[in-house]
Amino acid sequence: MKARSRFWFILCLLFSLSVSAMPAWAGARLLDAAGENQWPLALTTHVGLLEDPSRTLTLADVSSPGFAGRFHFEQADSASFALGFTRSAYWFRLDIGNSGEQPVSRLLVVDNPRISFVDAFVPDGQGGHHSWFTGADRPQSAKAYSNRNFVFPLHLPAHSRQVIYVRVESSIGLLVPLKLWSVEAFHAYEREDYMARAGYMGIAVAMMLFNLMLFIALRDRLYLLYVIFVLCAVCALTVKNGMAPDWTLFGLPLNSNVAYYSGASLALSGMLLFMRRMLQTSHLLPRTDRWLLALVAIYLVSPLIYANILPQVSRMAIVVNLLTALIMMGVGLVCAFKRQRSAYFFLAAFGLLILGGATTTLRALGILPTNAFTEDGLQIGSSLEMLLLAFALADRINVMRQEKLQAQACLLQTQTQLVETLQRSERDLEDRVAARTAELQVLNSRLEVLSLTDALTGLANRRHFDEVLAREWKRAQRLGEPLALAVVDVDWFKAYNDHYGHPAGDACLQQVANILKSTISRSTDLAARYGGEEFVFLAPATGLPGARSMAEKLVSTVAGLELAHAASPLGHISISVGVAVMQGETAGAAQVLLQRADAALYQAKSRGRNQVVCDGQV
Ligand code: GH3
Ligand code: MG
Ligand code: MG
Repeated sequence: MKARSRFWFILCLLFSLSVSAMPAWAGARLLDAAGENQWPLALTTHVGLLEDPSRTLTLADVSSPGFAGRFHFEQADSASFALGFTRSAYWFRLDIGNSGEQPVSRLLVVDNPRISFVDAFVPDGQGGHHSWFTGADRPQSAKAYSNRNFVFPLHLPAHSRQVIYVRVESSIGLLVPLKLWSVEAFHAYEREDYMARAGYMGIAVAMMLFNLMLFIALRDRLYLLYVIFVLCAVCALTVKNGMAPDWTLFGLPLNSNVAYYSGASLALSGMLLFMRRMLQTSHLLPRTDRWLLALVAIYLVSPLIYANILPQVSRMAIVVNLLTALIMMGVGLVCAFKRQRSAYFFLAAFGLLILGGATTTLRALGILPTNAFTEDGLQIGSSLEMLLLAFALADRINVMRQEKLQAQACLLQTQTQLVETLQRSERDLEDRVAARTAELQVLNSRLEVLSLTDALTGLANRRHFDEVLAREWKRAQRLGEPLALAVVDVDWFKAYNDHYGHPAGDACLQQVANILKSTISRSTDLAARYGGEEFVFLAPATGLPGARSMAEKLVSTVAGLELAHAASPLGHISISVGVAVMQGETAGAAQVLLQRADAALYQAKSRGRNQVVCDGQV
């Protein structure tokens, strides 16, 4: 359609040429504004291009007849002139006509708000030119039409023709998409364009507010870093899209390309700090982390460099930014390999941003077609990136909550284990104490037995006897019963010892004790060794006749043993016994009974030994 109308227009022009013979039209590539109906129309192959390396050429120079032939034309049909990082100025020459019967209005659009200087010269119909000196480095008020891009109105009367010149120059990369729009189509596009950008801004503001609230609530700096990153990124993109107002710093106008590069640097440093904290690189990759901090420092001072020598460093800045993107991707990958959960989200989000950036670049290079997705690829990518990172931050809260729950469960388990251990050791201690107590009781009872027993004979000792005597004495007094006590002494024992030796004396004492044990067999009676070779026995509820017979039995049994005693007049071991009985006495101490028995014993000795003498028989 486009080609055919152009063909007819050229035929028409050739016809009119032959009629009016106008030599100035020869060799020019003329665009018929009336013949087009598809908007926008890329002008890449329609305009002539002239490089001005010295940046000194004026409109008068380039519009002079000698210059017309020096403009050359692009052969390939692409969306824009990609002129690279050049310091040259470039002139575009557009030869445009209106073959129709009606006047038409068109808009010439330079679709890149980042070009430092964009000057347009449109014939005013009176031999002069309307001149607009605009561009990113000039105030917004200089624009011919209020739009984020550079828009110049063209009015073409019926059957007219004019030559328009556009001069561009930039401190950064020079990408010039030159387009022609019908006024209506451009207005429709403008609405959609601003809506898309407002939507993006809405997402960014929502993300910022959401994460600011999270920061206030959780006091985790990660969320603040994210807010700083989004804020800087939004500022940079607003400048990039030509939507920022004319900014000033301390009253001085801010160069918008410097602001754009500085904003990008601050956004990248925010992103790096955010990444460090999100992926915990200081723990996971401590050495890389120091380099990342150095990179952040470079980015933080870069605005000063841009403010002074942006044209010289703009190309290097792009390379450094690309390298930073690669570094971030690499760090994300390493952390993902180290099974850092946040790294998965980070990589996915970053991947989307890169995909968006790549789409935009590929469109600019003409590899991808221009559509809603490729045109705003970077914005769509960064919107999705912001959303995904917000998910990651939300996921982080979830992970933190789970970790907290796990820690609580762990703490509870430890507490339970501790309580169980304490209870177990308490039980162990109780068991051990019980065992020790039982052992002690056994030992105590054994000690008690030992403390009451005579070691040589196994009879009760004097202490035991005294206790029992005191007890039985009181009992006898209480019940009015008799209590018999006898003192037994071995005769001539000193001589026995002297003759047979002390060990033999001991054995003799043991034998006498055994006889005492077997003779004093009633459970209530008690026989004891009172000291040396003297024995005693106590017989409760026993009167004098019973006690005497017990004593006599003892004397006769010992004598019956006939243990040889060479030093005794009898020739064998014998004993003498003194017996005393208390009957109905209410006064006096138990010891009195003992003295009485002792006195009886003394009598038995003096009467010749080997006999029993009872108290009262004295
Ligand atoms: P008497 O007929 O008058 O009782 O004459 P005796 O020699 O037995 O005199 P006495 O009762 O005073 O003698 C006590 C002697 O008993 C003195 C000591 O040699 C002896 N003796 C005392 N205790 C022990 C002992 O545990 N073992 C031995 N082998 N001898 C003892
Ligand atoms: Mg004696
Ligand atoms: Mg004696």
